[in-house]
Amino acid sequence: MDAIWERFLEEVGMNEKNIGLSTRCVHAGELKDLHGSPHTPIYTTTTFKFDSTADLLDVVEGRKSGSLYTRYGLNPTLFSLEEKLAALEDAEAAWVFSSGMAAEAALFLAYGRKGIVCIGDAYGGTMELLSSQLPELGISTHFLLGSELGGLKMLLETGAGLVFFETPTNPTLEVLDVRKISGMAHEYGALVAVDSTFASPVNQNPLALGADFVIHSATKYLGGHSDITAGALMGSKDLLASVWNWRKNLGTVIAPETASLLARSIRTLTVRVERQNATAQAVAEAMTEHPKVARVFYPGLPAFAGHAVARSQMKGFGGMLTLELNGSYEDAVRAVDRFQLFAIAPSLGGVESLATMPVTTTHHGLSPEERMRRGISDAMIRLSIGLEDAADLIADLEQALE
Ligand SMILES: *Cc1c(COP(=O)(O)O)cnc(C)c1O
Repeated sequence: MDAIWERFLEEVGMNEKNIGLSTRCVHAGELKDLHGSPHTPIYTTTTFKFDSTADLLDVVEGRKSGSLYTRYGLNPTLFSLEEKLAALEDAEAAWVFSSGMAAEAALFLAYGRKGIVCIGDAYGGTMELLSSQLPELGISTHFLLGSELGGLKMLLETGAGLVFFETPTNPTLEVLDVRKISGMAHEYGALVAVDSTFASPVNQNPLALGADFVIHSATKYLGGHSDITAGALMGSKDLLASVWNWRKNLGTVIAPETASLLARSIRTLTVRVERQNATAQAVAEAMTEHPKVARVFYPGLPAFAGHAVARSQMKGFGGMLTLELNGSYEDAVRAVDRFQLFAIAPSLGGVESLATMPVTTTHHGLSPEERMRRGISDAMIRLSIGLEDAADLIADLEQALE
């Protein structure tokens, strides 16, 4: 249903193509109600009434769009949110899920049957789903490092149908070239899905770079306040159509109350992420100078390996950065335990700054050899930059590293 957004554009006499992201964040999908609410009300309703059987059948048989049953996603609060989500990525359509993992699982079940190739590092839950759970269902999955793109052609020749990757990746902020990988996959008729959670729609739009699907853990930047668990999948109407039944029957739609909170959060998305970009850049530059820091992983640093590709496909460099200390695991633990402003927590994208050591959380389950192969050291600290002042965050890092 793009009906709400289309009506708004007509009312204000604007062409969607000319509308900026901040305006989309505020206005896309917002349902006008009889009482003049400036944002969409929450329909907690689970089922919706019809005037006649003929009217009901119009919706059930897909001749008309309309509300029917909330688990199906056919609820006005969810329609409204999905229009906003689609507008963020300039996508034809978006489905909203109860979590980022729910979005990934539905996509993999709908499109992974010919085999899935995962390039580069990925979120721990994604790795577990791909490496152990989906193979149990007979779905073949393959893993390549970002430096092993040469191996992609062979996997595509053997018929793998879906290429999946994150960019930038966790925790080394590796930047994978969306245009290049999409070009390679499409030559073999494979589809491409990008988990763009770290970048957010403010900094990167994978569909515009050639990808077929974009996934967001809306738990992170879209929610932005560490108080919502949600996920989103964007793409063309045709491609998303086959994912719908999976969400419907796995029952992984979002609750209307959470949908409303997420829409509320997205209205401030650009303001938050632009500030997080600027603060992360300042923190990264300050840490580059620090004698206790061996390396700073941040796409916005000109000396960073992924900087050139990041410049070509990102509009901003994001709020995530990783420090590798000159020192041991124990030194890194000591620093993390001394943080005053940064909280020790494994998530990201919220208003409060968080710190986590990949070896203790996201990559805890990997063998030391596998961590080394992926360039993840014991003295790494991943930072999610929030909305505190840059000077206060830098001061906190300096006292912790002393
Ligand atoms: C958090 C995260 C996920 C999983 O999202 P949930 O909302 O926790 O299910 C997937 N990908 C990335 C990159 C993430 O950071």
